[in-house]
Amino acid sequence: MSEAAIRVAVTGVAGRMGRQLALALGSDRDFELVLAVDRSNADESLRDLCGPAVANLVITSKLGAGLDDARPDVLVDLTHHAAATSNAISALQRKVPVVIGTSGISKDDLRTIELATEEHATPALLAPNFAIGAVLMMQFAEAAAKWLPDAEIIEMHHEQKVDAPSGTARSTAERIAAARGEFRPRRVQEVIKTEGVRGGEVDSVHVHSVRLPGLVAHQAVMFGGIGETLTIRHDSMDRASFMEGIKLCIRGVRSLKGFVVGMEHVMGSL
Ligand code: NAD
Repeated sequence: MSEAAIRVAVTGVAGRMGRQLALALGSDRDFELVLAVDRSNADESLRDLCGPAVANLVITSKLGAGLDDARPDVLVDLTHHAAATSNAISALQRKVPVVIGTSGISKDDLRTIELATEEHATPALLAPNFAIGAVLMMQFAEAAAKWLPDAEIIEMHHEQKVDAPSGTARSTAERIAAARGEFRPRRVQEVIKTEGVRGGEVDSVHVHSVRLPGLVAHQAVMFGGIGETLTIRHDSMDRASFMEGIKLCIRGVRSLKGFVVGMEHVMGSL
């Protein structure tokens, strides 16, 4: 392992994203996975779970003690919205910068994380989507909303996803709403015959959440204008699509200040 390798801790390492990240870090000399945390598979060998290419670590369920022992440079959280805030705070209290990939964190909890970044003078980066193409999709959608403000979002994910709408959909809706300003879609008086059929609303943007086996993470943003539509679509076909983005965030988070939302903040000029 090279001297300059960034020492990384991962919470949720036994999950789908966590295992993939352990493999991605194991094959990149720029990074060293030094702490593997999960409440499931605790005390098991990470190699038994992921194969011989990953760091030779035993999974622990004790984040605080693990951080004190391993002294990582960065924590990556890929757990559950009920756990992500306390995980982030454990790291921030120890002045360990945090990359949060976990979705579904409430606004109140996000504020709590933001306050902890200020109190401990340590940065945190929340990335609603680690795929480079998804960041571009959100930027293109924001640009399109200035000209075609009538928009709806269809997000599609695997059937195991617990939160809806996705963090990416929420973020896209908020950006569209900000870009289109005072505009509100003009609707006829709708007769809703099945509850929820028009989806939910985030900042007055309709969002439709599809959950099906076979999907990974996909989103289409549809814009309607006079006699035209525009659809901007991104597809993550495999969780591998998130790994380069996570590495970008690990590299970049330490130079940030406070609490930052969006991977574009570590992507340089786009
Ligand atoms: P998963 O359910 O497969 O894995 C989550 C893991 O977290 C599990 O192993 C679980 O045991 C563990 N966990 C839960 N609570 C914990 C706690 N308190 N302490 C330690 N470990 C705990 O889920 P996944 O598909 O790997 O996704 C993880 C999170 O990442 C989800 O919130 C998902 O929505 C999000 N995600 C984000 C992106 C992105 O680009 N930002 C992409 C994919 C998934």
